[in-house]
Amino acid sequence: MKSLPDFWFEPHLWVNGEWVRAVESLDIRNPATGNVIARVSMADPILLDRAVHGAARAQKEWGESSPFERGEILKRVASLLSARKDPFARLLTSEQGKPYPQSVAEVEYAASFFQWFGEEARRVHGRITPHPDRKREYLIEQRPIGVAGLITPWNFPLAQGAKKIAASLAAGCAAVWKPAELTPLIALAMAPLLQEAGLPRGVLQIVPGIGSQLGKPLAEHPDIRILSLTGSTRTGATLLSYAATGIKRVTLELGGNAPFIVLPDADLDLTAEQLVKLKLFVSGQVCVTANRVFVHREQEKELLDRLATRMASVRAGDGLEDGIDAGPLIHHKACQGVGELVADALAQGAKLSVENRSFETRSEWTRGSFFPPTVLSGVSDSMRIAREEIFGPVIPILTYTDPQEAILRANATPYGLAAYVYGSNISMCREVARQLEVGIVGVNEWRPLRAEIPFGGVKQSGFGAEGGLEGIQEFLNPQVISIPRFEL
Ligand code: NAD
Repeated sequence: MKSLPDFWFEPHLWVNGEWVRAVESLDIRNPATGNVIARVSMADPILLDRAVHGAARAQKEWGESSPFERGEILKRVASLLSARKDPFARLLTSEQGKPYPQSVAEVEYAASFFQWFGEEARRVHGRITPHPDRKREYLIEQRPIGVAGLITPWNFPLAQGAKKIAASLAAGCAAVWKPAELTPLIALAMAPLLQEAGLPRGVLQIVPGIGSQLGKPLAEHPDIRILSLTGSTRTGATLLSYAATGIKRVTLELGGNAPFIVLPDADLDLTAEQLVKLKLFVSGQVCVTANRVFVHREQEKELLDRLATRMASVRAGDGLEDGIDAGPLIHHKACQGVGELVADALAQGAKLSVENRSFETRSEWTRGSFFPPTVLSGVSDSMRIAREEIFGPVIPILTYTDPQEAILRANATPYGLAAYVYGSNISMCREVARQLEVGIVGVNEWRPLRAEIPFGGVKQSGFGAEGGLEGIQEFLNPQVISIPRFEL
């Protein structure tokens, strides 16, 4: 059994390189036990304003610093995170609930973004372009856009922050990070590490706080030039409306409703194995998780049998204990929401194939917010569970008769983030993938996300990209200088 590490940071705001107490504070609980693990300061609009001003002061020097130096700092952050992955992972599991090995994977994933953007920092370059007048030329330079407001959710509280921080700092933008109110500790844990890596004071401010109170002042602050949110589609729409007043650039990574299409020639053992991994990852509280599993009706029983066997043998419990496959949901309200979707599906004719209540074997977990890993068959497109983001460890099975029909139904959603295609004929998989209206498709792969690729959605899943060559561009503006050529 692992334990919560001793804190190497303070549970307060990180403003201008110092810990700052706020009047308001919030209890942070381990969702597996309900135990309070810390009481964390929550910023009010006045403290937020102080943080943004501090970032604005730091912006000039940071924006003009050498991209090589910025890159070196970010790469040092990557090394420090990798070296300290155990305490970071234990903190992450204690605060968020995911099993320890998944937390280790998140720390490594976060480090990969610092490494990637540390390398990309020095590859930002402009160009010289001919002018119609041969005595002049155009210099096109990439300039940092200015102070970034970064807002992240609780499901990947470290990695979502890392993606945004690494890209914005690499581009030369100072930033103000508002982590989710439910998971501020892992964000604050980054402050001493960034300082140790050599990040100048004030370049990154970390201000935990309630989103509904801080969203507007952050978005409308005159010193903020770009807002980057990962969160729900509803929050995305609200933030966009705030940003409209000051014509701020916005990037939005929002909700999903990912189809998982099992083609008739799919290897069902591989499919079942990977689908279960995907759905147990953070207990299904992932924007890219499979939300609707489309299987050919003649293969439904075979797939269901395989899924049932695997899901029934899963161990759900406190992620700090060894051998746990599925942790709790973030809180009891989340369990209630997923429960309502399952109840609605059952009332409309879906069948419960598996409901794994292994977490009930331990009395200390009864106060935790666990939802049983579940498999449902007989789900139809009109049920709420197929239309809404489930955010829980539930596999809903829908059947189809023809792949073209599956594609049409897969696209019949306002979301467009991720999709999965499983099959043996790779040309066919590729064609199906091309017809899906989403930002990323995993073909026979359950976790295709990496720092090297641009990740982002279409439709109501948002816009903008994180990662890849594109990620840094979000934080840059081209500036053109039309200039006379030197004549000898
Ligand atoms: P949420 O939208 O409630 O909260 C996300 C963040 O936004 C939090 O920091 C929160 O404090 C803040 N926030 C809330 N109201 C705000 C407001 N009015 N103005 C500004 N900020 C505000 O989402 P959540 O419940 O924390 O996270 C789950 C959602 O995030 C899901 O819909 C999921 O699909 C989505 N998500 C998307 C991605 C992606 O990359 N596309 C990744 C992870 C999660």
